[in-house]
Amino acid sequence: MRKRHFTLIIILIFSLIQLAVAGNKPSTKELKNELLRKVDEKSQLLVEVSDSLWDYAEIALQEYKSSKLLMEVLEKEGFDVEREVAGMPTAFVASYGSGRPIIGILAEYDALPGLSQDNTAFKKARIEGGAGHGCGHNLFGAGSLGAALAIKEVIEAHKIPGTIKLFGCPAEEDIGGKLFMARDGLFDDLDACIAWHPDYETKVDVRGSQAIDDLEIEFTGKASHAAFDPWKGASALDAVEMTTFGINLLREHVKPTVRIHYVITQGGKVPNIVPEHAKLWLWVRDSTRQGVKDVVKRVEEIVKGAAMATGTSSKINNKGSYHEMLVNMTGSKVMQKNLEMIGSTTYIDEETAFAKRIQKETDIEQKGMICEINKLENLTKDPEGGSTDVAEVSWITPTLNLSTSCAPSGIPWHSWAVVSSSKHSIGYKGMFLAAKVMATTALDLFLDKEVLIKMKKEFKDKLKGYTYKSGISQGQKPPIRVKNNP
Ligand SMILES: [Zn+2]
Repeated sequence: MRKRHFTLIIILIFSLIQLAVAGNKPSTKELKNELLRKVDEKSQLLVEVSDSLWDYAEIALQEYKSSKLLMEVLEKEGFDVEREVAGMPTAFVASYGSGRPIIGILAEYDALPGLSQDNTAFKKARIEGGAGHGCGHNLFGAGSLGAALAIKEVIEAHKIPGTIKLFGCPAEEDIGGKLFMARDGLFDDLDACIAWHPDYETKVDVRGSQAIDDLEIEFTGKASHAAFDPWKGASALDAVEMTTFGINLLREHVKPTVRIHYVITQGGKVPNIVPEHAKLWLWVRDSTRQGVKDVVKRVEEIVKGAAMATGTSSKINNKGSYHEMLVNMTGSKVMQKNLEMIGSTTYIDEETAFAKRIQKETDIEQKGMICEINKLENLTKDPEGGSTDVAEVSWITPTLNLSTSCAPSGIPWHSWAVVSSSKHSIGYKGMFLAAKVMATTALDLFLDKEVLIKMKKEFKDKLKGYTYKSGISQGQKPPIRVKNNP
């Protein structure tokens, strides 16, 4: 009898302990609220980092100060930082935690050449001819930093197993830093990856992006006096002109999803010398990698024909190839729930007035900012026009994309108007929202094994047996093509 009492008491104590432990363990909702508070607490730091990146305005592969600042903050906050990854001095990987799952967050921070602009509601260069954040990558870098710092503190405080990795990805606007990072296997151990981008809409982005081939076409001919003995010359510029003519005829015979655009980067020095060297920089895009490959084959034939007809020689350098984005709907639904839980952004009168003035200056309907959150769209067959190196990651691990409203509705992207908005509270508000949605989504991926399994299944089904293959060779080094500020 006494023994039975003793057993009952032990069971009671054990149950009480279990109840107490369960009582201390916060729910996912509580943890998410904690993440939102963390981002709010860090808002001043994020604005400071974002503004510094905006001021530096460093273009592709020259983001020395920008990457240094991000790495310093991450190290100070307890992350291990691996510098100069994938052969790029401004690329890094910052990690915190241990074991699985390993969740990645992408950060970008490169500016665009020639878009220098003050943070005014009208066009006014800050440094004549200088660079500017016309794609809002200063917000991108600081917003991703905010998400990583918040999630780090929560997994640390609550001993949640897993690793968070922030990828410092340089050169998105030109070159494609992630192409080199993907080739070198930096994303291989991820269970999933999260990215965002400033926009004028707020949505989980499932529209995807186009595959692209980036080609440099070079012709070499023979120089001669253009008036005295032109018959001795072979014009490389003629070959370029024949190539562009051929490409423009080809446009009639490609699918409507194809986009071809080019610039002539070298066409001779003076009119009285038959140009010995000429260069064409050409991009071919389509909905799929195969579509791009088919068009590039035709372009190669045109180049050969142009060389033959003009007596020159030709060389095609493939500077990089991106895949189309592989959208993960399972993970996108998780992200959408978090976005809706956090809710849309509101703007004060001064912000709306600033947005409307920019719209007036750019001849866009003066609607101000878009506050609403878009519903999750259905998957479409053909992506929107444009390509991104984030797509490379999406073929290695399930990758989620978010867009938040950071600029006035409808303004031209890659323009002075985006530079202005990116150092203003309308931009900061979009950045905070992005940090919150990414952090809460990362938390779901840390805590909910079922979701990760479902995301991976969808990913595997969509790969259809394909293993990621980089469009660049092993030895290929990232080139620096456009110089920074004058
Ligand atoms: Zn961008």
